[in-house]
Amino acid sequence: MNVQDTAAAPADRLPDWMRSIRVRYAVLYSAVLFGLAALLIGSLYLGLSMKLHSTSVNPPTTFSGPVRLPDGRVQQVEFNAYNTREFQAKINANTLEQLRDFSFIALGVLFVASLGIGWVIAGQVLAPIQRITEVAREISATDLSRRIQLKGPDDELKQLADTFDDMLGRLDTAFDAQQRFVADASHELRNPLAVIRTNIDVALSDKRADADDLRQTATVVRRASERMARLVDDLLLIARRQAPGVRSDLVDLAAIMSEEADEFAAPASAKGIELDRSIEAGLAVTSDRDALKRAVANLLENAVRHSPEGGRIQLRSGRQGNWAWLSVADNGPGIAPELHEKVFDRFFRVDRSRARSEGGSGLGLAIVRQIARSHGGDVQLRSTPGEGATFVIWLPLTPAAAEGAVPSAKPPAATPVS
Ligand code: ADP
Repeated sequence: MNVQDTAAAPADRLPDWMRSIRVRYAVLYSAVLFGLAALLIGSLYLGLSMKLHSTSVNPPTTFSGPVRLPDGRVQQVEFNAYNTREFQAKINANTLEQLRDFSFIALGVLFVASLGIGWVIAGQVLAPIQRITEVAREISATDLSRRIQLKGPDDELKQLADTFDDMLGRLDTAFDAQQRFVADASHELRNPLAVIRTNIDVALSDKRADADDLRQTATVVRRASERMARLVDDLLLIARRQAPGVRSDLVDLAAIMSEEADEFAAPASAKGIELDRSIEAGLAVTSDRDALKRAVANLLENAVRHSPEGGRIQLRSGRQGNWAWLSVADNGPGIAPELHEKVFDRFFRVDRSRARSEGGSGLGLAIVRQIARSHGGDVQLRSTPGEGATFVIWLPLTPAAAEGAVPSAKPPAATPVS
């Protein structure tokens, strides 16, 4: 039976108050019972009255007397008769007996009929549940593409089926993302492994390799293993931050930014890069301190990597409404507008081979976004190719720090003016 077809047409025309399957079932059930009861009483009445009309009652008292028969003979005949009370009692007993017979027959018929009707009605009412069960049975862990797509009125069962479909959609997306992530991660790990294996094979097969050659091989292998170690660290960090129960403390944003700026002062000056700070004091956020440090470090690391020799990096922070922001701006090559969203995807790199050779895991910005979002904030990118890039992390201020600010549930759309 096609549930969608049966449920759809008549139910669509129902008034609002009848859209609840509970109400519909109650109305339907009582209507059927009422009809059957009316039928029962009607048939009892009809049957009884017909039977009473056709039933003859014996005349009263017993007496005998001569009676002349049609052929002229005279015969002594004996009559059985009752007095009025006996006569009444006999009639009542007769009537009750017949009423009982009719009741039993009618109840038997009613029982069988209500069983049949109840069976059909329950089948109709529960058909959507049957469909949900079938779909749930057909869904396997590896194929989440099936949907119930129940048609008909917007009742409890339709809502249940739609919720189930929504849940399947979300699981499907998450499952896909997970598969893609595992595939990408394996691919990323394969690359340094291949480098290690090839270099070792070459060194082993070269019988004349001297200490310098072997040192050279060891250096390449070490670089590749460092890349792998970094990738594994990043993967672990992502996995940990996906798990519930991430730590949160009251953190001073200025302290974190200063610490990270100090850490990157050396690599920046090695490239002749000027690291500018303009950090607002007193911005407290409820945050996982280590994670926030990692987010700032990832942005600074990218800025140092992409800034030209003698370039300039600006590290700033401030507040807007009930939000704190921190930004890292560089004057590197910048990022094309069509890639502004993509750079936050896992394993996305603008220049694949160059990024790999420079040691990037392709997870840096994905981690920054994950950290920002897990704190209830977000990260934005503003960049003009050729002029540099500015990354801004928005974080909700703790209620005390945000006092007096007009609360907004989302980070401001505009990048703060620095
Ligand atoms: P990776 O660890 O490989 O750098 P990220 O997720 O940190 O990966 O960055 C993704 C890509 O975004 C990088 O390959 C790089 O091309 C680009 N990118 C990141 N930061 C900057 C920046 N400050 N300037 C220009 N491009 C950048």
